[in-house]
Amino acid sequence: MTSFDDNNYSFETLAVRAGQVRTSEGEQSEPIFPTSSFVFETAAQAAARFSGDEPGNIYSRFTNPTVRTFEERLATLEGGESCVATSSGMAAILATCMGLLHRGDHIVSSRSIFGSTTVLFDNYMARFGVSVSYVPLSDLNAWEDAIRPCTKLLFVETPSNPLTELVDIEALARLAHDKGRVLVVDNCFCTPALQKPLSLGADIVIHSATKYLDGQGRCIGGAVVGDSELVGKEVYGFLRTAGPTMSPFNAWVFTKGLETLSLRMRAHSQQAGLLAEWLEAQPQIERVFYPGLASHPQHELARRQQSGFGGIVSFELVGGRDNAWQVMDATRVLSITANLGDTKSTITHPATTTHARLTPEQRADAGISDGLVRIAVGLEDIDDIKHDLERGLEGLKLRN
Ligand SMILES: *Cc1c(COP(=O)(O)O)cnc(C)c1O
Repeated sequence: MTSFDDNNYSFETLAVRAGQVRTSEGEQSEPIFPTSSFVFETAAQAAARFSGDEPGNIYSRFTNPTVRTFEERLATLEGGESCVATSSGMAAILATCMGLLHRGDHIVSSRSIFGSTTVLFDNYMARFGVSVSYVPLSDLNAWEDAIRPCTKLLFVETPSNPLTELVDIEALARLAHDKGRVLVVDNCFCTPALQKPLSLGADIVIHSATKYLDGQGRCIGGAVVGDSELVGKEVYGFLRTAGPTMSPFNAWVFTKGLETLSLRMRAHSQQAGLLAEWLEAQPQIERVFYPGLASHPQHELARRQQSGFGGIVSFELVGGRDNAWQVMDATRVLSITANLGDTKSTITHPATTTHARLTPEQRADAGISDGLVRIAVGLEDIDDIKHDLERGLEGLKLRN
């Protein structure tokens, strides 16, 4: 770790400085090392590196200096001992499962998680004898009841997508540790700028770096953060063997993304708060989901657990799918896409895209109605975003 790996510096300073190792060229910005392998001085040194007697680079599937800078900076920001960067957010979840689970193990997962994570658990982990039970995110009794003797992992995203439901991470960590389990938190929506799960007792943090860590919609990547045993040894061991590693170029983009993370997350949160309040006042909108609203059922928990409310706002339109699609199709600024965490605002109809795979009953269970629209609020002027939505909303008023 670098000299910035201590408690004397604030988050903003660490986000800009941690993990940088300046080369003899004296560069100001972090360099990119696009090299697949590394050269040894002597045959004896090669042997020492391979045996582990001498630390150092061998091959970029194992370690790469650009990737390490990203890993050390993110580990510092999350407050973890170790970080392993991966080729995608899904690869981070896969590496965690493969590194920590054995045949016969059981996962208890929130039912409100990223769609591909559910598919990974149900279609692939199941093939290797790992079973999963799903529980309602905020219901701690349901989590406790679902834990079996063979339960190894508790897996959660908070706030949830798209309904911004929360779980009390501290309480869930207590529950997990009472029974000796590992609590894994996918911290994609808040990032460490707004929420630090490890300091609340979680064991492992997962990231899709693709989202806010990049913040400008350019690269796919992920990361796992935790202690030197579970992450530094077990997850890393799988990664260096199986190979879903992060490329040096992507690591460099994410490293530079971390430098503006705190600024961006504050701006996303502020914009989303303004938009949520405005949406709540529109007669064509039945309900707005945003943890920063006083009307959010877990507003108090959000205030306690997060230092900001994030950039995701969802709302339910009167009149179901047709009206939702009409508002989306009337936008000229917002991008109709399922990605999020970008400077460019995105708008999504969950029922027919991210949650289309569910049966109508499952969707109703999960609270994903046909009139639900999700916005990942970007950094355009907030009045331009409101006008962009107003066009469609006005159209509904005329028609209804
Ligand atoms: C996007 C996302 C993932 C998957 O990340 P990829 O980088 O797309 O593989 C996992 N979890 C959450 C919450 C996400 O939003």
